[in-house]
Amino acid sequence: MLQDLRAALGPQGCLTGADVPVAARSDASRTGHDLPLALLRPASVAEVSAALAICHRHGVAVVPQGGMTGLAGGAQPQTGQVALSLSRLAGVEEIDGEAMAMVVRAGTVLEVAQKAAEAAGFLLPVDLGARGSCQIGGNIATNAGGLRVLRDGMTRDNLLGIEAVLADGTVLSQMTRVVKNNTGYDLRHLFAGSEGTLGVITRAVIRLRPLPGPRGTVMAALPDFASVLRLLAMARSALPGLSAFEAMWRDYFTCSQSHLTHVVFADPPPFAVILEADEGPALEALLEAAFEEGVMTDALIAQSFAEARRFWAVREGLEMDAAMPGLINLDVSLTTGRLDDFARACRLALLARFPGAHVSFYGHVADSNVHVAVHVPGASDAEVHEVDAIAYGVVRDFGGSISAEHGIGTLKRNWLGYSRSPAELAAMRAIKAALDPKGLLNPGKVLPG
Ligand code: FAD
Repeated sequence: MLQDLRAALGPQGCLTGADVPVAARSDASRTGHDLPLALLRPASVAEVSAALAICHRHGVAVVPQGGMTGLAGGAQPQTGQVALSLSRLAGVEEIDGEAMAMVVRAGTVLEVAQKAAEAAGFLLPVDLGARGSCQIGGNIATNAGGLRVLRDGMTRDNLLGIEAVLADGTVLSQMTRVVKNNTGYDLRHLFAGSEGTLGVITRAVIRLRPLPGPRGTVMAALPDFASVLRLLAMARSALPGLSAFEAMWRDYFTCSQSHLTHVVFADPPPFAVILEADEGPALEALLEAAFEEGVMTDALIAQSFAEARRFWAVREGLEMDAAMPGLINLDVSLTTGRLDDFARACRLALLARFPGAHVSFYGHVADSNVHVAVHVPGASDAEVHEVDAIAYGVVRDFGGSISAEHGIGTLKRNWLGYSRSPAELAAMRAIKAALDPKGLLNPGKVLPG
């Protein structure tokens, strides 16, 4: 088989043994260790198709790889499997100003595509912290969320067309640029969030938006969660350009700020919110109204880009991550109105089992998305697993989703049944069997065994 692959892809397109870079073993979850049988690096759609057809003939499993920034173990190969990297299938093919659409190859790094859109006077609405490494194909395969979901939606919501290669090498192309297209089953949405289990995405058409004007960034102090909900409702109706509404519970704010060299609130409030919207009178009027109603107790308006970055540094918590090795970061979603009830229940359940743990909450509350940051000093793998089981159990009790953004991969696979019914799982399996009857595309990912 390797001989066939080398013949089809050339020596640069099929690496084996010591030539396979260590980076091909693990994504950003750092849980992968296995050396794949080969790392394939096709440079065209025809080469992807040929590679898949050869692997299909030989019954060998293929694991698609983008930028390897995933956090669920989805792109990690196992011994005996072939990894297929899209990195050489990169580049923006066209920006269509009339259709406000970008035709782009799957291996294009997100930031490269964003810059190309900006140079043409448009915004590419998908944005996330991993923008410098993650790829458009990976963003679609994980249906990535990120920093602009509140205004522009998830990756799926910005996907106009797609091209993907099925397990047997068949090229399925629906590279349409139209917004309205009700011609039967929507294959785009089948591949968005499929995590490499249904096909290898090779090209896409992404919707572009107008470039936004200057942004205002506010860090607000709030007395309770009811005020967070009230401020969100006020902001939604008063600010059409609202693009971020991020809340931090006091425990998270205090811990994150303590690892920074700057202080935003010396006396951390029960809740802090970062709000971003178009600069101007509507934003100022909203802040005034919120003060008058008692919804806010303090508000700082960033006077510069550097100050806005200082607000965001508390929310991003990168220094906290670095200072607390082994910090467990869970990404879940629940009905917005129940987020604080969930936080209380989850904290109680975790502290009952791990009394010395540090448990804190923050997240994109306008998208019903909360992160649970848990630090159990010196936790073993089994204890980390227990933390997951306890927290996801509470998510299930609240009728929430165990994965808001990061996907299922291998790391959340055993808990998929907490958020999906047996009938839904059966339908997913039927779709998988229809498109990949031999089960060769990314086996062991997403669907529980
Ligand atoms: P990979 O990690 O390489 O792969 C992810 C999955 O997609 C795997 O299952 C893989 O098999 C599949 N895949 C990759 N490419 C293809 C393809 N062309 N065809 C078919 N399947 C494919 N995620 C968010 O949603 N929101 C965030 O805000 C966010 N922030 C992050 C910040 C940091 C610092 C980091 C490290 C990660 C963050 N992530 C976030 C997670 C991650 O960046 C996203 O999931 C991203 O979309 C993965 O893209 P990738 O190209 O790195 O994919």
